[in-house]
Amino acid sequence: MTTEIAPPRMRIVRHPLKYRLLEVKQVHRITPGTVRVTFAGEALEGFCEQAPTDHVKLCFAEPGTELPVEPVIENDTWMDAPVEPITRDYTIRHHRRAEREIDVDMVLHGTGVGSGWAAAAEPGMTLGVLGPRGSEVIDFVHDWYLLGAEETALPALARWIEMLPAGVRVIAFAEVSGPQDEQRFETAADLTMTWLHRGDAPSGSTDLLERAIRAAELPDGMGFAWVAGEATSLKPIRRHLREDRNLHRHQVDVDGYWKRGVENHDHHEDDEHEHA
Ligand SMILES: Cc1cc2nc3c(=O)[nH]c(=O)nc-3n(C[C@H](O)[C@H](O)[C@H](O)COP(=O)(O)OP(=O)(O)OC[C@H]3O[C@@H](n4cnc5c(N)ncnc54)[C@H](O)[C@@H]3O)c2cc1C
Repeated sequence: MTTEIAPPRMRIVRHPLKYRLLEVKQVHRITPGTVRVTFAGEALEGFCEQAPTDHVKLCFAEPGTELPVEPVIENDTWMDAPVEPITRDYTIRHHRRAEREIDVDMVLHGTGVGSGWAAAAEPGMTLGVLGPRGSEVIDFVHDWYLLGAEETALPALARWIEMLPAGVRVIAFAEVSGPQDEQRFETAADLTMTWLHRGDAPSGSTDLLERAIRAAELPDGMGFAWVAGEATSLKPIRRHLREDRNLHRHQVDVDGYWKRGVENHDHHEDDEHEHA
C-alpha cells in the first residue's frame, strides 16, 4: 500500500499593519514600459518582507490634492471609513533595509491612477504605502518550480528567481511586448527562462503563457507552480495545472493581478488565487 504525502502548504506570516508616507528618491525607466520608483524614508524602519510575492498597497492622492487620504488602522485592522484612500497593489521589488529604501516597478499601461502616477513620477514626490499585511511563505523544498508572468508580475517572478536555492530546477515563462521589455535576473537556481513576445497584441489578450505552459516538459518529483498576470487569461492555466498536470492545490498558486476592463481588480475576489 502506498501512502500519499501531502505537499507542503503555503502559510501566511502576518506583519503589523502600518501606513507610511514615503518620498520618491529616484525614478528610472528599466524598460520602455516599466518605471522603477525608489521610495525612501526613516518611516521604513521596521518594514517587513520575506516572500517572493510580498506586496504593498500604494495610496494615491485624490485629484487636486497633495497627500493621500490616510487609512484608518485600529487594532492592527484596516477599518472602513467615510473616505478611503485610492489604493493599488504593487510588489516590493527590492528592500534595502540599511538604506531604508524600497523599489517598486510600475507598468505604464495607459489608463489608471497607478499607471498615470508612475508616468509622471519625479524625485521629491510623496506617496502613501500601506503594508505589507503579510507574507505568503512557501518552504523551498520542492524538486522543481514552474513560474509564469507578464509585466505586472515580473517583479514577483524576479523575486522568486532570486530567492530560490542553488541548483533547484526552475522553468520560467515571461510574456512581454518584445525584446526591449526583457529583463535580466541573477539566480543561483538552475533556471531555464523563456521570453514570449506578444508584439502589438494588447496585454492580457493572448494565450502565449498558456500555450508555453501546456507544452513545457516538467521534471520528475514534486513541483510548485506560480503564475500571475491578467485574471481571465490565467483561468485555463490554472485548470491545466490542476487537471492535466494533476498538481495538488497546495502545489499551485495562480493569481490574477489585474483584469481587462476592470478598475482596481480585487485579486482575492475570485478563486484564481488558490493555495490556502
Ligand atoms: C499582489 C499584486 C501585486 C502586483 N504587483 C504589481 C507590480 O509590481 N507592478 C505593476 O505594475 N503592477 C502590479 N500589480 C498589478 C496592478 O495592481 C494593476 O495593474 C492595477 O490595476 C494598476 O492600477 P491602475 O490604477 O494603473 O489601473 P486601474 O485603475 O486598476 O485600471 C484601469 C484600466 O487599466 C487596465 N489595466 C490595469 N492594469 C493593466 C495592465 N498591466 N495592462 C493593461 N491594462 C491594465 C484595467 O483593466 C482597467 O481597464 C499587482 C497586483 C497584485 C494583485
